[in-house]
Amino acid sequence: MAHKHPYLKKTKHHVLPQSRFPDLADKESNIVMVSEREHDSYHRLFENKLPIEILDYLVNTFWGGNKNFVENYLDE
Ligand SMILES: [Zn+2]
Repeated sequence: MAHKHPYLKKTKHHVLPQSRFPDLADKESNIVMVSEREHDSYHRLFENKLPIEILDYLVNTFWGGNKNFVENYLDE
């Protein structure tokens, strides 16, 4: 019998964190559903950063300051 692991349960994630944008907390366009596992990992690493701050963090912490990956992505 298929039994979904609780950690795969979908949880609500706010694209722009509700802690910083309380007005967007209930806005449909600011909410996506992600597994609890991914959600926990995301916030453990990115805390309540905004998407632009996360890109900045990734570029400077993991990608040696190289913005080419982001630029190439935008060109796709
Ligand atoms: Zn979240």
